[in-house]
Amino acid sequence: MDFEHSERAREYIAQVDRFIRERVLPNEQTYGDQLAHTDDWRRWRIPPILEELKAEARERGLWNLFLPDSEYGAGLDNRDYAPIAELTGRSFLAPEVFNCSAPDTGNAEVLVRYGSAEQKQRWLAPLLAGEIRSAFAMTEPAVASSDATNMRATCEVEGDQIVINGQKWWTSGAGDPRCKFFIVMGVTDPTAERHQRHSMVIVPTDTPGVDIVRMVPVFGHLDEPHGHGEVVFTDVRVPKSNVIAGPGRGFEIAQGRLGPGRIHHCMRAIGAAERALERLCRRAVGRIAFGKPLANLGGNRDIIANCRMAIDQARLLTLKAAWALDRHGVIGALTDVSAIKVVAPNVLQMVVDAAIQIHGGEGVADFELTRLAAMGRVLRIADGPDEVHRGMVARLELAKYV
Ligand SMILES: Cc1cc2nc3c(=O)[nH]c(=O)nc-3n(C[C@H](O)[C@H](O)[C@H](O)COP(=O)(O)OP(=O)(O)OC[C@H]3O[C@@H](n4cnc5c(N)ncnc54)[C@H](O)[C@@H]3O)c2cc1C
Repeated sequence: MDFEHSERAREYIAQVDRFIRERVLPNEQTYGDQLAHTDDWRRWRIPPILEELKAEARERGLWNLFLPDSEYGAGLDNRDYAPIAELTGRSFLAPEVFNCSAPDTGNAEVLVRYGSAEQKQRWLAPLLAGEIRSAFAMTEPAVASSDATNMRATCEVEGDQIVINGQKWWTSGAGDPRCKFFIVMGVTDPTAERHQRHSMVIVPTDTPGVDIVRMVPVFGHLDEPHGHGEVVFTDVRVPKSNVIAGPGRGFEIAQGRLGPGRIHHCMRAIGAAERALERLCRRAVGRIAFGKPLANLGGNRDIIANCRMAIDQARLLTLKAAWALDRHGVIGALTDVSAIKVVAPNVLQMVVDAAIQIHGGEGVADFELTRLAAMGRVLRIADGPDEVHRGMVARLELAKYV
């Protein structure tokens, strides 16, 4: 195993680090101030500071760094992208500033790998230019969606059209005024083999029959200005050419989409945990109780040491998963990818919880700490439930003995 980053990656790491420290972190407050602050998601607006920072990052060449394809992106492999994604995890703004935020990253990877020339020109180009955003609609309220074969929405072929019916929710990004298309997954041929029934279809958000019913709250917050939409599709018709890679290939694409792209969350979670630990330590040395800094009271040193050890273990496992993906592909990296999807959000949750605790009452009121706590908790479901990933690790482990 070789975790050494290439010289190119080291240059990107230094530049991204500097840009985040000098431009992104100091503007988080400005971003917050510029939000519309309304639960009426139809009135959401994008804070101008975000587009300013995007323009600066793009000008400096710090753009689309997530894409391993060098024709469309930076051409970095997973091992080289891991430390960059980690840095962007330190700020809620950073992933988008570098045009590296979910779900666009996954959707862009799908279009690069499976999209037609027309789909690339119409949807991929503006996505990679940061002019539009997108969403991914797979999860349904009516069925247990951690098992994607349960899906009920339909994408039926009728002549040269695809007709979409069904209800989705947790369509992240659906409330963003720049969100111009969904990639919708649904059943095309219920009689086909289980993994050849589904299709992925590009649906422009303004197509008749698309109804964004509401934004689903996360711990009471709507995640302005992106949101997580509940979307009803009623006899939505799009040209058959909007099907990605052709009818029945939805699962094959999902495997590609949910492979490399999804350890980006883990990489960012490590950066988020680092930020929480920094907050924890600053508080521990800076605040006095019972005549001593908090760091010297009770078991606080043990807590800090445990956080440091957990983060470093998680980082090593992330790098191992990234290395395995680069070296052996998705199938050869199944154990490592599933393992880190459990480990990274749980480590983030543990570290943030400790950071909140040492801040006392301020901890549960603090915007940054509570946001990170929600992020850690949500990731244990949104990136596939922990149990599903543990199931994969156990299955592969047991397979050695039967
Ligand atoms: C903030 C957020 C953003 C999201 N963004 C998107 C998005 O952009 N697009 C999209 O399509 N979806 C998105 N999702 C949905 C997410 O992918 C699903 O919530 C997830 O796959 C679980 O599906 P479910 O909610 O139907 O839970 P269910 O499938 O009903 O599972 C519920 C629980 O059952 C248990 N369980 C399930 N399987 C097993 C098992 N094999 N072993 C043991 N226990 C098990 C687990 O405890 C699990 O949490 C998002 C979710 C959240 C919270």
